[in-house]
Amino acid sequence: MQKILNYINGALVEPVSGNYLENYNPAEGKPYSLVPDSDAQDVQHATEAAQRAFGAWSAMPVEKRSAILQKIADLIDRDLEKLALAESTDQGKPVKLAKAVDIPRASANMRFFATAAIHFSSEAHITGQEAINYTTRTPVGVAGCISPWNLPLYLFTWKIAPALAAGCTVVAKPSELTPMTAFLFSKLCLEAGLPPGVLNIVHGLGQKAGQAIIEHPDITAISFTGGTVTGKKIAATAAPMFKKLSLELGGKNPNIIFADCDFENAVSTSIHSSFSNQGEICLCGSRIFVERAIYNRFVEEFVSRTKKLVVGDPQDEQTKVGALVSEAHLKKVLGYIDLAKQEGGTIHTGGKQLKLNGRCADGYFMEPTIITGLSHSCRTNQEEIFGPVVTIMPFDTEEEVLEYANSTTYGLAATIWTENLKRAHRVAANIKSGIIWVNCWLFRDLRTPFGGMKQSGVGREGGFEALKFFTEAKNVCVKL
Ligand code: NAD
Repeated sequence: MQKILNYINGALVEPVSGNYLENYNPAEGKPYSLVPDSDAQDVQHATEAAQRAFGAWSAMPVEKRSAILQKIADLIDRDLEKLALAESTDQGKPVKLAKAVDIPRASANMRFFATAAIHFSSEAHITGQEAINYTTRTPVGVAGCISPWNLPLYLFTWKIAPALAAGCTVVAKPSELTPMTAFLFSKLCLEAGLPPGVLNIVHGLGQKAGQAIIEHPDITAISFTGGTVTGKKIAATAAPMFKKLSLELGGKNPNIIFADCDFENAVSTSIHSSFSNQGEICLCGSRIFVERAIYNRFVEEFVSRTKKLVVGDPQDEQTKVGALVSEAHLKKVLGYIDLAKQEGGTIHTGGKQLKLNGRCADGYFMEPTIITGLSHSCRTNQEEIFGPVVTIMPFDTEEEVLEYANSTTYGLAATIWTENLKRAHRVAANIKSGIIWVNCWLFRDLRTPFGGMKQSGVGREGGFEALKFFTEAKNVCVKL
């Protein structure tokens, strides 16, 4: 079975312990490769390498640093097909989606931050006739970057690209469930001539390798994307160590559909925002609120189109919904279906595991699921399910839907469908979410802030602010 290796000090190496975990292909329900079960010793080696590399990397002219990162982006583009297949095999997503979204966005992350670093400037302030203040920004040192399994290479590069571009060196850990594209990425870094120790990738479990990164005293900034419960644990460890902390966490996003919407656009985009990547995107709109005047029409049309979605082999170009990432996650999602029934919900379509034939006979597939008849405050509508499951609820007034939308502890993203411009702005202003889409979903401009409010995250930003996160500011005040 193929062995994935750690990438430490510019070399692909075995974990010190020699221990490996099985890496599953969720569409087949079988292990297909081995991933290092790294521990604190591997993190120590990676951190030492990153510390050694920091001086030269941070002092390298930014144009030269940028050129290496852009070369990596070029190599991602060159290997699009191979990376997309690896991402699909690891995570269960349709290969078509990986080709169209995950991998192109990974190279866009590299390119965006590589070029942003060239254009980055810091501020100077003339204070009357009395003083000049100028701000310098220097990279924080070794950064720890930890990413989840749902958009593996996309979110991995979203963290490491700004860190490297800002001049930090990095110890990174992808999810143990989806390590393959990060492994292939480490080979691209070698090919691009990234100096040894600048990026170190330690594979393994969150509780072991991940925790060792968070606890390491020489890793001074942590950029984490994952679940809110894990984020709390990370904050509890890192905050007393005064580490810089960026947490991008879970969501339970409202998708609000007013009666005056462009109905066709609202329905077709809501299909994507509900079931893309098997609903395993933190930005998926899992709670759909529909104004009562079009509620029945919407439910009927939405259910009918959902029934037509092809659930199948992720490698098949026709497949719209692939496998869930793991057996444990499938069980968790099916557990929420049971809960929804106990809470009085009606399952309009889906709700069950799906058995396929052939290669995928033992895979972790489930039917896209639509539930109605639940209150906005029940557990099904308050907790993140992170699967192909949505609820639909009617509303009568703007005030009412705002109360429903804002009723969870999360505040990541929201979608609003209306042709009324004033209402769009008013509702957007009153929803407590970090990202609001009006009449669209998943559009991204990398210059904009990214991330959530409330328990969906802290310290997250986009554009130049993401570069700034990996720097320390110093103000120099010169008296005139
Ligand atoms: P997770 O929190 O279980 O794991 C995320 C990463 O953290 C993994 O690499 C894991 O190994 C590591 N980890 C786990 N425990 C750790 C610890 N104690 N110390 C250090 N690292 C640890 O999340 P997941 O199940 O991989 O991903 C799904 C979650 O991620 C969902 O809640 C989803 O909403 C969220 N997410 C958020 C965003 C966002 O931008 N806000 C994007 C994608 C996913």
